[in-house]
Amino acid sequence: MMDVAAYAAPSAGAPLEKSTITRRDVGEHDVLIDIEFAGICHSDIHTVRNEWGAQQYPLTPGHEIVGRVTEVGSGVSRHQVGDLVGVGCMVNSCQECAACEEGLEQYCLAGNIGTYGAVDKDGTITQGGYSTHVVVDEKFVVRVPESLDEAAVTPLLCAGITLYSPLRHWGVTEGTKVAIIGMGGLGHVGVKIASAMGAEVTVLSHSDKKREDAATFGAQHYVNTTDEDEMKALAGTFDLIINTVSVNLPMADYLALLRYDGTLVELGAPSKPLEVPAFALIPARKALAGSCIGGIAETQEMLDFCAEHDITAEIELIDADRINEAYDRVVASDVRYRFVIDAKTF
Ligand code: NAP
Ligand code: ZN
Repeated sequence: MMDVAAYAAPSAGAPLEKSTITRRDVGEHDVLIDIEFAGICHSDIHTVRNEWGAQQYPLTPGHEIVGRVTEVGSGVSRHQVGDLVGVGCMVNSCQECAACEEGLEQYCLAGNIGTYGAVDKDGTITQGGYSTHVVVDEKFVVRVPESLDEAAVTPLLCAGITLYSPLRHWGVTEGTKVAIIGMGGLGHVGVKIASAMGAEVTVLSHSDKKREDAATFGAQHYVNTTDEDEMKALAGTFDLIINTVSVNLPMADYLALLRYDGTLVELGAPSKPLEVPAFALIPARKALAGSCIGGIAETQEMLDFCAEHDITAEIELIDADRINEAYDRVVASDVRYRFVIDAKTF
């Protein structure tokens, strides 16, 4: 066992503070990662503020992790000491159910083991990436392309795969009309990936502030969702709408923007239920779907795709003592576009 520096929430909603956590010994199939960077996802905030239900505290969040392998177990074949690697939102799954066999570990029938706040196979509660080191089963560790900036690639481990997976699943290709609601951490990476896939991308943002950035990321169109006339003009337009907003939106207003047979994929996870009138779906055979991160093989595919298209996140690199301030700025949509913590400062 190894005690390592970390940041943890001592109780629900309390500010995160400097702390020490224990990592397990490196097992036969484990790798020890010297963490270099950890991203701040809005899910970290929902979790430590108990918006998704009670947690066990103290809790160290963080599921966008990039670092170097410093030790491997005797049975490890996928990674070597010195490799640049990443860990996302899962650190294990049953590895034998139908979903796992299909490479959909995120939908493991026994429940995937989340990178933090989940019961691990040894009965301990997993602790996330806001720390200096982590020990992870090699199957849940992906290769990070050396060509990409290490800090800026970090958010791809959650934000990148969460957008890449539904864009692929719903067959986005040259000319597909895609709208992305909310251009935050997830949304801005989604704009870049969808546009690299050849889609015609529209950003639906709740202010005018991000208009110029959206064009830089590859969006052809930008609509301020507070402009009712512009929203009405989009009725029946999109093949696919991806909602990344962290609060409840009037779903019917957005479903109205789908063409017949279109799909709205809900990624944002507000604590209150979504309200969807039946007649927002029925008349044009519209679908409302959800999607959760992506499988491990698909995460590797996404990183390789991003390397090929030179895609990383736009980040603000911070020291660990600014995590609490960063949380408030994320909630206020005041981040351009993802905070990444320098792990040397934990
Ligand atoms: P984020 O950086 O805070 O981005 C959310 C965006 O939503 C904001 O940038 C803002 O975009 C928009 N927004 C925020 N408050 C709003 C309001 N009051 N009204 C209208 N729009 C508002 O968060 P994130 O890290 O991208 O995560 C987004 C959501 O996805 C969170 O709920 C998170 O838990 C969830 N998530 C889901 C998965 C999954 O697998 N499904 C994975 C990761 C995260 P504009 O300024 O452009 O309007
Ligand atoms: Zn996340």
